[in-house]
Amino acid sequence: MSNDPTKKTALVTGASRGIGKAIALTLSAAGHRVLCVSRSQSSFQPVVDAILESGGEARGYAVDVASSQEVKAACAGILSEFGQVDILVNNAGITRDGLVMRMSDEDWNAVIQTNLSSCFYWTRELIRPMASKRWGRVINIASVVGLMGNYGQANYAAAKAGVLGLTKSVAKEFASRSITVNAVAPGFIETDMTAALDDKVKEAMLKVIPMKRFGKVDDIAGIVKFLASSDSDYITGQVFTVDGGMVM
Ligand code: NAP
Repeated sequence: MSNDPTKKTALVTGASRGIGKAIALTLSAAGHRVLCVSRSQSSFQPVVDAILESGGEARGYAVDVASSQEVKAACAGILSEFGQVDILVNNAGITRDGLVMRMSDEDWNAVIQTNLSSCFYWTRELIRPMASKRWGRVINIASVVGLMGNYGQANYAAAKAGVLGLTKSVAKEFASRSITVNAVAPGFIETDMTAALDDKVKEAMLKVIPMKRFGKVDDIAGIVKFLASSDSDYITGQVFTVDGGMVM
């Protein structure tokens, strides 16, 4: 790793696949050092290798984002090595769908911990050095489901709605330190998470998307790149839906 002080350090959770991978590659192409977090080395290593091969700087970390202790330990190591993380992208997420009457405590808790508590854990550990430096970015990947609710996704919708509340609260707490905190709410994006859905569900989704196509991972990476840059200096506490016009 270089000690180039002009390089910003970005940390992306869930960087091994789908939206997080696209964000990691895009932030690297924008000139940032990228710390890629996923559950295992075997999942993050191909992304780290791709960044290194393209001449960028990257490091991978196997962390269960649902574990406060694991996030705390990882952040201690990262801060002692890099001093601060300038851009935090909380993207890791899972679904455990089921109708509310049949939803187990385990499926409820797994989704809340992985999709919501994780954002709190990483933010709490990494925001203090951003505040000292008087510059920082926190970008939380929520979902339109957090705005609209969805059949069979009470846990996921609650977690994503919680992410929006967290985003706005942290934005207020740190606005005076020039740290911006925003959320991106994707609609239906083509990734492993949505590949598993039934064709009938996909057809029904297409009918309510005015642009008549599903989103691509780069549709999300593009707005994250903008929110991570100084072009968005005066934007905080906002939710950006990227969904082909589904929620207006
Ligand atoms: P994905 O393809 O299923 O990838 C999920 C990523 O999260 C993987 O990198 C995975 O790591 C990581 N992850 C999951 N649980 C983790 C844990 N406990 N600890 C560490 N890493 C964990 O998902 P995606 O579709 O790209 O979604 C990314 C984000 O966008 C999620 O927050 C999702 O809710 C949100 N979103 C997606 C859509 C969509 O249509 N796809 C729509 C709205 C919002 P491993 O590879 O190690 O498992």
